[in-house]
Amino acid sequence: MTGGLFAALTTSLAGALGSALAGAPTIVPGTGGVLPVEVNPTLVRVLLGPWSGLGAFFWGLLWGSFANVVIWRVPRGQSVVHPGSRCGACVRPIRWYDNIPLISYLLLRGRCRACGASFSTRYLIVELLGGLLSFTLYTQHVATPLVAGGAPALAAWLLWFVFGLALVIVTFIDLDFWIIPDAVVLPLAGVGLLCAAFVPDVLGVTLIDAALAAGVGFSLLAGLRWVYLRWRGLEALGLGDAKLLLMVGAFCGNAGLLWTISAGAVQGLLIAVPMLLLGRSVANSSLEEVHGDDPELGEEDPDAGVMGVRVPFGPFLALAAIEFMILGEPLRDLVVSLLR
Ligand SMILES: [Zn+2]
Repeated sequence: MTGGLFAALTTSLAGALGSALAGAPTIVPGTGGVLPVEVNPTLVRVLLGPWSGLGAFFWGLLWGSFANVVIWRVPRGQSVVHPGSRCGACVRPIRWYDNIPLISYLLLRGRCRACGASFSTRYLIVELLGGLLSFTLYTQHVATPLVAGGAPALAAWLLWFVFGLALVIVTFIDLDFWIIPDAVVLPLAGVGLLCAAFVPDVLGVTLIDAALAAGVGFSLLAGLRWVYLRWRGLEALGLGDAKLLLMVGAFCGNAGLLWTISAGAVQGLLIAVPMLLLGRSVANSSLEEVHGDDPELGEEDPDAGVMGVRVPFGPFLALAAIEFMILGEPLRDLVVSLLR
């Protein structure tokens, strides 16, 4: 009942918005045909213009900069809004003009203006990841449909961007602290399920698909963890990985869940084994160092992890989920054509 009401409300809202934006029916040159969806030609020109692409990139940079704040502060239990950015070395506040994503980093060559301490290149990498994600998703959900004569899916662009940014945040926090923060994955799992319930067309996942995938993803890893804890008395998987799959399932449905688990495991091995053979650690800290007081942690076990070394799974799950987010449709087409 409520779902129907909400759907009717959003449809009429979208209709009102659509007629406000729409001008005369757009004639497709050469074909004499009319576009299936009436979109204001001025809006099309703006959305397809170079400034919009650049804007989408800069929008991503800004949120990438915020992701840096979340990655640093959330695992340390600090507020993400207050106080403003400070230099880690001299603790002096960073002024707004020194805090412009990408540009300030390049102008100051990654150093604090006041004390000259250098900032990690990771800040730049996370900002750039934000920018690239936003630009790619904008191209996919806004520019491409417009070129094909359809309506721009602005909501899809923004929602997928939030999902992608959350995956970037999860990756770096897990690499540093071996945790996946509830504050990031649980609210987003809720957002994914709400979208599937009320506006399933935006993410292209039905409520049944999303709820099933979220439930299966969570139970699968939580179950494995429980069995291992009972059987060997140690924690082979974190509950955080299970909650991460809850979020991935809610956004991507069963196809995305299947890809994320299998590609995440395969790529995890392909990346972790060479790194370990070269004597390099995958994470940026040792698990014992960070969570040594956890009684369920247990001893290092030669049968657990990769070659007896614990490796965080979250970054590999996140990488696979990003792959599915961007390549989902070609991947589905590939599976269908292989099965034919
Ligand atoms: Zn400083």
